[in-house]
Amino acid sequence: MTGAGSGIGKAIALRLADEGARVLAVDIDPEALAGLPVSDVFQTELADVNAIDTPARIVQRCVDAFGSIRVLVNNAGLGNCPAFHETSDADYDKWIDINLRSNFRITREAFPELLKSRGVVLNIASSLGLVGYRRQAVYSMAKAGVIGLTRNLAADYADRGIRVNAIAPGIIATPQTATRLGTARFHASIVGTMPMGRPGQPEEVAGPAAFLCSDDAGFVTGQVLTVDGGQTTSAYVSDAMVACWVDAHPES
Ligand code: NAD
Repeated sequence: MTGAGSGIGKAIALRLADEGARVLAVDIDPEALAGLPVSDVFQTELADVNAIDTPARIVQRCVDAFGSIRVLVNNAGLGNCPAFHETSDADYDKWIDINLRSNFRITREAFPELLKSRGVVLNIASSLGLVGYRRQAVYSMAKAGVIGLTRNLAADYADRGIRVNAIAPGIIATPQTATRLGTARFHASIVGTMPMGRPGQPEEVAGPAAFLCSDDAGFVTGQVLTVDGGQTTSAYVSDAMVACWVDAHPES
Protein backbone atom coordinates (compact mmCIF):
# COMPACT_ATOMS: atom_id res chain seq x y z
CA MET A 1 0.00 0.00 0.00
CA THR A 2 1.76 3.17 -1.19
CA GLY A 3 1.30 6.70 0.08
CA ALA A 4 -0.10 5.19 3.26
CA GLY A 5 1.08 7.91 5.62
CA SER A 6 -1.75 10.37 5.19
CA GLY A 7 -5.05 11.21 3.58
CA ILE A 8 -6.78 8.58 1.46
CA GLY A 9 -3.88 6.11 1.71
CA LYS A 10 -3.84 6.19 5.50
CA ALA A 11 -7.59 5.68 5.67
CA ILE A 12 -7.39 2.69 3.30
CA ALA A 13 -4.43 1.15 5.17
CA LEU A 14 -6.24 1.42 8.51
CA ARG A 15 -9.50 0.10 7.06
CA LEU A 16 -7.80 -2.91 5.46
CA ALA A 17 -6.05 -3.62 8.77
CA ASP A 18 -9.42 -3.40 10.55
CA GLU A 19 -10.75 -5.96 8.10
CA GLY A 20 -7.96 -8.35 9.08
CA ALA A 21 -5.34 -7.66 6.40
CA ARG A 22 -1.65 -7.59 7.20
CA VAL A 23 -0.42 -4.27 5.84
CA LEU A 24 2.91 -2.91 4.63
CA ALA A 25 2.45 0.87 4.64
CA VAL A 26 4.91 2.59 2.29
CA ASP A 27 5.50 6.35 2.33
CA ILE A 28 8.22 8.89 1.63
CA ASP A 29 7.44 10.89 4.77
CA PRO A 30 8.93 9.49 7.99
CA GLU A 31 6.74 11.68 10.20
CA ALA A 32 3.60 10.41 8.49
CA LEU A 33 4.77 6.81 8.94
CA ALA A 34 5.51 7.50 12.62
CA GLY A 35 1.81 8.28 13.09
CA LEU A 36 0.76 4.77 12.06
CA PRO A 37 0.05 1.94 14.52
CA VAL A 38 3.04 -0.36 13.92
CA SER A 39 2.67 -4.00 15.00
CA ASP A 40 3.43 -7.53 13.79
CA VAL A 41 0.60 -7.20 11.28
CA PHE A 42 1.01 -3.53 10.36
CA GLN A 43 4.49 -2.58 9.25
CA THR A 44 5.94 0.48 7.59
CA GLU A 45 8.60 1.09 4.96
CA LEU A 46 10.17 4.46 4.22
CA ALA A 47 10.49 4.68 0.45
CA ASP A 48 10.12 7.02 -2.50
CA VAL A 49 7.92 5.22 -5.02
CA ASN A 50 9.87 6.94 -7.80
CA ALA A 51 13.25 5.56 -6.74
CA ILE A 52 14.66 2.96 -9.10
CA ASP A 53 15.12 0.29 -6.41
CA THR A 54 11.84 0.86 -4.55
CA PRO A 55 9.63 -1.71 -6.32
CA ALA A 56 12.04 -4.59 -5.66
CA ARG A 57 12.68 -3.42 -2.11
CA ILE A 58 9.03 -3.10 -1.04
CA VAL A 59 7.96 -6.33 -2.73
CA GLN A 60 10.77 -8.20 -0.96
CA ARG A 61 9.94 -6.50 2.34
CA CYS A 62 6.29 -7.53 2.05
CA VAL A 63 7.15 -11.13 1.20
CA ASP A 64 9.69 -11.31 4.04
CA ALA A 65 7.17 -9.87 6.51
CA PHE A 66 3.99 -11.63 5.44
CA GLY A 67 4.97 -14.46 3.08
CA SER A 68 2.95 -13.25 0.09
CA ILE A 69 1.21 -10.29 -1.55
CA ARG A 70 -2.53 -10.67 -1.95
CA VAL A 71 -3.51 -7.01 -2.41
CA LEU A 72 -1.55 -4.13 -3.93
CA VAL A 73 -2.95 -0.62 -3.49
CA ASN A 74 -1.21 2.00 -5.65
CA ASN A 75 -2.22 5.25 -3.98
CA ALA A 76 0.81 7.57 -3.83
CA GLY A 77 0.14 10.52 -6.09
CA LEU A 78 0.45 14.23 -6.56
CA GLY A 79 -2.13 16.73 -7.81
CA ASN A 80 -1.95 20.48 -8.40
CA CYS A 81 0.18 20.43 -11.55
CA PRO A 82 0.90 23.61 -13.53
CA ALA A 83 -1.35 24.77 -16.37
CA PHE A 84 -0.66 23.06 -19.70
CA HIS A 85 1.03 26.11 -21.26
CA GLU A 86 3.33 26.48 -18.26
CA THR A 87 4.32 22.81 -17.99
CA SER A 88 8.05 22.26 -18.48
CA ASP A 89 9.60 18.91 -19.39
CA ALA A 90 10.71 18.61 -15.77
CA ASP A 91 7.13 19.23 -14.57
CA TYR A 92 5.86 16.65 -17.04
CA ASP A 93 8.27 14.02 -15.71
CA LYS A 94 7.46 14.89 -12.11
CA TRP A 95 3.69 14.40 -12.42
CA ILE A 96 3.89 11.40 -14.76
CA ASP A 97 6.51 9.67 -12.59
CA ILE A 98 4.64 9.89 -9.30
CA ASN A 99 1.13 9.30 -10.66
CA LEU A 100 1.71 6.76 -13.43
CA ARG A 101 5.23 5.42 -13.87
CA SER A 102 5.67 4.36 -10.23
CA ASN A 103 2.30 2.62 -10.36
CA PHE A 104 3.38 0.68 -13.48
CA ARG A 105 6.78 -0.27 -12.05
CA ILE A 106 5.49 -1.40 -8.64
CA THR A 107 2.67 -3.43 -10.16
CA ARG A 108 5.11 -5.11 -12.56
CA GLU A 109 7.45 -6.01 -9.71
CA ALA A 110 4.62 -7.39 -7.56
CA PHE A 111 3.13 -9.28 -10.46
CA PRO A 112 4.76 -12.71 -9.88
CA GLU A 113 3.55 -12.63 -6.28
CA LEU A 114 0.07 -11.55 -7.35
CA LEU A 115 -0.05 -14.42 -9.84
CA LYS A 116 0.83 -16.86 -7.07
CA SER A 117 -1.82 -15.46 -4.72
CA ARG A 118 -4.44 -14.81 -7.43
CA GLY A 119 -4.39 -11.34 -5.98
CA VAL A 120 -5.99 -7.95 -6.35
CA VAL A 121 -4.67 -4.59 -7.55
CA LEU A 122 -6.45 -1.37 -6.63
CA ASN A 123 -5.29 1.84 -8.27
CA ILE A 124 -6.27 5.22 -6.88
CA ALA A 125 -6.91 7.29 -9.99
CA SER A 126 -8.99 10.48 -10.03
CA SER A 127 -12.23 11.79 -11.48
CA LEU A 128 -9.89 14.06 -13.47
CA GLY A 129 -8.74 10.95 -15.33
CA LEU A 130 -12.31 10.60 -16.60
CA VAL A 131 -13.47 14.12 -17.39
CA GLY A 132 -11.94 17.32 -18.65
CA TYR A 133 -11.19 20.00 -16.10
CA ARG A 134 -9.02 23.12 -16.14
CA ARG A 135 -5.33 23.61 -15.32
CA GLN A 136 -4.77 19.89 -14.69
CA ALA A 137 -3.43 18.61 -18.03
CA VAL A 138 -0.53 16.39 -16.95
CA TYR A 139 -2.29 15.16 -13.81
CA SER A 140 -5.36 14.23 -15.90
CA MET A 141 -3.16 12.49 -18.47
CA ALA A 142 -1.42 10.48 -15.77
CA LYS A 143 -4.66 9.45 -14.08
CA ALA A 144 -6.23 8.55 -17.43
CA GLY A 145 -3.14 6.39 -17.95
CA VAL A 146 -3.75 4.70 -14.60
CA ILE A 147 -7.30 3.93 -15.73
CA GLY A 148 -6.01 2.54 -19.02
CA LEU A 149 -3.53 0.35 -17.17
CA THR A 150 -6.29 -0.84 -14.83
CA ARG A 151 -8.58 -1.92 -17.66
CA ASN A 152 -5.81 -3.51 -19.68
CA LEU A 153 -4.40 -5.57 -16.81
CA ALA A 154 -7.92 -6.64 -15.85
CA ALA A 155 -8.55 -7.95 -19.36
CA ASP A 156 -5.10 -9.49 -19.67
CA TYR A 157 -4.98 -11.44 -16.43
CA ALA A 158 -8.55 -12.21 -15.36
CA ASP A 159 -8.07 -15.77 -16.60
CA ARG A 160 -5.11 -16.12 -14.23
CA GLY A 161 -7.15 -15.04 -11.24
CA ILE A 162 -5.99 -11.44 -10.86
CA ARG A 163 -8.53 -8.66 -10.42
CA VAL A 164 -7.60 -5.04 -11.14
CA ASN A 165 -9.86 -2.08 -10.35
CA ALA A 166 -9.55 1.64 -9.78
CA ILE A 167 -11.22 4.25 -7.64
CA ALA A 168 -11.63 7.74 -9.08
CA PRO A 169 -12.04 10.08 -6.11
CA GLY A 170 -13.48 13.55 -6.54
CA ILE A 171 -12.66 16.25 -4.01
CA ILE A 172 -11.61 14.59 -0.76
CA ALA A 173 -10.51 16.46 2.36
CA THR A 174 -6.84 15.50 2.73
CA PRO A 175 -3.57 17.39 3.23
CA GLN A 176 -3.34 17.62 -0.57
CA THR A 177 -6.57 19.63 -0.82
CA ALA A 178 -6.41 21.39 2.56
CA THR A 179 -5.23 24.77 1.25
CA ARG A 180 -7.98 24.99 -1.35
CA LEU A 181 -10.68 23.63 0.91
CA GLY A 182 -9.73 26.25 3.47
CA THR A 183 -10.96 29.08 1.22
CA ALA A 184 -14.55 30.30 1.01
CA ARG A 185 -14.03 30.94 -2.70
CA PHE A 186 -13.26 27.28 -3.43
CA HIS A 187 -16.34 26.22 -1.50
CA ALA A 188 -18.53 28.69 -3.34
CA SER A 189 -17.20 27.99 -6.82
CA ILE A 190 -16.48 24.24 -6.73
CA VAL A 191 -17.68 22.38 -3.65
CA GLY A 192 -20.99 24.21 -3.62
CA THR A 193 -21.58 23.19 -7.24
CA MET A 194 -21.34 19.48 -6.44
CA PRO A 195 -24.61 17.59 -5.88
CA MET A 196 -23.64 16.66 -2.31
CA GLY A 197 -22.22 20.13 -1.69
CA ARG A 198 -19.35 18.94 0.49
CA PRO A 199 -15.94 17.31 0.08
CA GLY A 200 -15.63 13.60 0.76
CA GLN A 201 -13.73 12.24 3.73
CA PRO A 202 -10.83 9.79 3.27
CA GLU A 203 -12.85 7.12 5.11
CA GLU A 204 -15.52 7.46 2.42
CA VAL A 205 -12.93 6.27 -0.10
CA ALA A 206 -11.61 3.56 2.23
CA GLY A 207 -14.97 1.76 2.39
CA PRO A 208 -15.29 1.31 -1.40
CA ALA A 209 -11.58 0.40 -1.48
CA ALA A 210 -12.10 -2.35 1.10
CA PHE A 211 -15.01 -3.69 -0.95
CA LEU A 212 -12.99 -3.80 -4.18
CA CYS A 213 -10.12 -5.58 -2.40
CA SER A 214 -12.45 -8.14 -0.80
CA ASP A 215 -13.89 -11.41 -2.03
CA ASP A 216 -17.30 -9.66 -2.13
CA ALA A 217 -15.99 -8.07 -5.32
CA GLY A 218 -14.90 -11.44 -6.70
CA PHE A 219 -16.71 -10.88 -10.04
CA VAL A 220 -15.64 -7.23 -10.36
CA THR A 221 -12.63 -6.37 -12.49
CA GLY A 222 -11.57 -3.60 -14.84
CA GLN A 223 -13.94 -1.15 -13.14
CA VAL A 224 -13.43 2.46 -12.22
CA LEU A 225 -15.56 3.34 -9.22
CA THR A 226 -16.09 7.08 -9.02
CA VAL A 227 -16.35 8.34 -5.44
CA ASP A 228 -17.11 12.02 -5.87
CA GLY A 229 -20.42 12.94 -4.26
CA GLY A 230 -22.01 13.02 -7.70
CA GLN A 231 -19.68 15.70 -9.08
CA THR A 232 -19.06 14.05 -12.44
CA THR A 233 -22.56 12.67 -12.91
CA SER A 234 -24.25 16.01 -13.36
CA ALA A 235 -23.87 19.38 -15.03
CA TYR A 236 -23.94 22.23 -12.55
CA VAL A 237 -27.11 24.30 -12.53
CA SER A 238 -26.63 27.46 -10.49
CA ASP A 239 -29.34 28.94 -8.29
CA ALA A 240 -29.57 31.82 -10.79
CA MET A 241 -30.32 29.33 -13.58
CA VAL A 242 -32.97 27.61 -11.48
CA ALA A 243 -34.55 31.01 -10.83
CA CYS A 244 -34.51 31.70 -14.57
CA TRP A 245 -36.34 28.44 -15.18
CA VAL A 246 -38.94 29.16 -12.54
CA ASP A 247 -39.53 32.63 -13.97
CA ALA A 248 -39.94 31.19 -17.47
CA HIS A 249 -42.39 28.51 -16.29
CA PRO A 250 -44.35 30.07 -13.43
CA GLU A 251 -47.02 27.42 -13.78
CA SER A 252 -44.65 24.51 -13.08
P1 NAD B 1 -1.96 13.21 0.50
O1 NAD B 1 -0.99 14.23 0.04
O2 NAD B 1 -2.81 13.48 1.68
O3 NAD B 1 -1.22 11.82 0.75
C1 NAD B 1 -0.32 11.31 -0.18
C2 NAD B 1 0.68 10.47 0.55
O4 NAD B 1 1.61 9.97 -0.41
C3 NAD B 1 1.49 11.26 1.59
O5 NAD B 1 1.57 10.56 2.81
C4 NAD B 1 2.84 11.43 0.91
O6 NAD B 1 3.91 11.52 1.85
C5 NAD B 1 2.92 10.18 0.08
N1 NAD B 1 3.83 10.35 -1.05
C6 NAD B 1 3.94 11.43 -1.86
N2 NAD B 1 4.93 11.23 -2.72
C7 NAD B 1 5.46 10.02 -2.47
C8 NAD B 1 6.52 9.27 -3.04
N3 NAD B 1 7.25 9.75 -4.05
N4 NAD B 1 6.79 8.04 -2.54
C9 NAD B 1 6.06 7.55 -1.50
N5 NAD B 1 5.05 8.21 -0.92
C10 NAD B 1 4.76 9.44 -1.41
O7 NAD B 1 -2.83 12.90 -0.81
P2 NAD B 1 -4.32 12.33 -0.95
O8 NAD B 1 -5.19 13.48 -1.23
O9 NAD B 1 -4.65 11.37 0.14
O10 NAD B 1 -4.14 11.55 -2.35
C11 NAD B 1 -3.96 10.13 -2.42
C12 NAD B 1 -4.24 9.70 -3.84
O11 NAD B 1 -5.58 10.05 -4.19
C13 NAD B 1 -3.33 10.36 -4.88
O12 NAD B 1 -3.03 9.43 -5.90
C14 NAD B 1 -4.21 11.46 -5.44
O13 NAD B 1 -3.85 11.83 -6.75
C15 NAD B 1 -5.57 10.77 -5.39
N6 NAD B 1 -6.69 11.72 -5.41
C16 NAD B 1 -6.88 12.58 -4.38
C17 NAD B 1 -7.98 13.46 -4.42
C18 NAD B 1 -8.29 14.44 -3.32
O14 NAD B 1 -9.20 15.27 -3.50
N7 NAD B 1 -7.61 14.40 -2.19
C19 NAD B 1 -8.83 13.45 -5.53
C20 NAD B 1 -8.59 12.55 -6.56
C21 NAD B 1 -7.51 11.69 -6.49
